[in-house]
Amino acid sequence: MHDFHAKDIVMLRELWNDRKGGFHPASAPDYLPESALQRLQLGRLQAVVAHAYENVPLFRSRMEARGLNPDAIRGLEDLQNLPFTVKDDLRESYPFGLFATPMSEVVRLHASSGTTGKPTVVAYTRDDVEVWSEVMTRTLACCGLHRGDILQNAFGYGLFTGGLGAHYGAETLGATVVPASGGNTDRQIMLIRDFGVTVLACTPSYFTHLIERAAELGVDLREQPLRIGICGAEPWTDGMRQHIEQTAGIRAYDIYGLSEIIGPGVASECPEQSGLHIFEDHFYPEIIDPETGAVLPDGEEGELVITTLSKRAMPMIRYRTRDITALIREPCACGRTIRRMRRIGRRSDDMFIIRGVNVYPSQVETALLAVEGTLPHYQIILTRAHGLDQMAVEVEVTPEVFSDKVRALEDVRARLGKAIEHTLGIRVDLRLVEPRSIARSEGKAKRVQDRRNEASPG
Ligand SMILES: [Zn+2]
Repeated sequence: MHDFHAKDIVMLRELWNDRKGGFHPASAPDYLPESALQRLQLGRLQAVVAHAYENVPLFRSRMEARGLNPDAIRGLEDLQNLPFTVKDDLRESYPFGLFATPMSEVVRLHASSGTTGKPTVVAYTRDDVEVWSEVMTRTLACCGLHRGDILQNAFGYGLFTGGLGAHYGAETLGATVVPASGGNTDRQIMLIRDFGVTVLACTPSYFTHLIERAAELGVDLREQPLRIGICGAEPWTDGMRQHIEQTAGIRAYDIYGLSEIIGPGVASECPEQSGLHIFEDHFYPEIIDPETGAVLPDGEEGELVITTLSKRAMPMIRYRTRDITALIREPCACGRTIRRMRRIGRRSDDMFIIRGVNVYPSQVETALLAVEGTLPHYQIILTRAHGLDQMAVEVEVTPEVFSDKVRALEDVRARLGKAIEHTLGIRVDLRLVEPRSIARSEGKAKRVQDRRNEASPG
């Protein structure tokens, strides 16, 4: 943190002394006054734009096409004149075309699983790894972790950034890490019980699977020392959160990140659970109108765009995340001054269109979790018959409902049908299925099966 002014450091030290209860010193930038934060952001922005301009030919040519050079950044508001970066830029420059440092300075590569074709590759220098550890430490501190916590990390280790990101953050914080990685659910449950695990980090869909399996094994997670869930890597609803918190007897926090920016550690909920604090001294957020690209004011909903302010190996200037949210400028009751964003309910990538209606899986999840007797295990199946799109929702119901007389099932079906029709404005084919009949995910859940382009008898 070389670019802090001396008086900021004095102020921060006073802040630490003032605050009751420990918080990690790495969290200090979370509490910067706006003027100090903006000074820091501008200095870093000017440096990162110059670095990208000098070292990334694609960025340089796009700047030149607009008649711009790094001197054009005189204030934070000048950022909105710069070109966007999109996911296709990463694909088209596969594997190393967007790197801004020589390979001799790159100490780590990660890659995202490309659903089609080549993955997207991201790179880190030694300093980048340190920044990543710092923001993940701040994430975990934000969720209330401290020294003495035992964190079981069930995010996958490997090319996916989730596992190692959470791992380094927890170690830097001073917690004990159990690097369980994804899968092998029975062993996960054994470790939670035998080690006295207090924090579980995984995708929310895997958390629900683990809760269910624990119950089958006769392990009541509410009776374990487990107290915090760190959940991320996929959108999840407040209904899903309530289910996890109640059945596991914990507080579950939403964390946000993406490999193109750094991995997990871009933003995190705090104990207030009312939006995610963006670590905006490293990741500068903008909200744009996804159609026009115009920057929207705080409070308005649009697509989240992020500029990395400190990354060296692969700086991202105005990266379009395709996530829909809004920035919250109002102060948070936790005392942090960095801005928050609303929880991501919708990813443009997840949206599908059925009979002219835009549908997000989270809307279906919200509707079905509001109806008693359903379980948070579902999938959406899209097909086409006689040229017409059909949408089916398969959802598991509780053993009580399933084993009861036909009337209980019909009752749940009627209420669920009404809830979904009310939310989406269209009728769907509802299939209530018995517990455990939908495949469980050990990482990110695949909620939608789109079979509309498969050959069908219709
Ligand atoms: Zn807060």
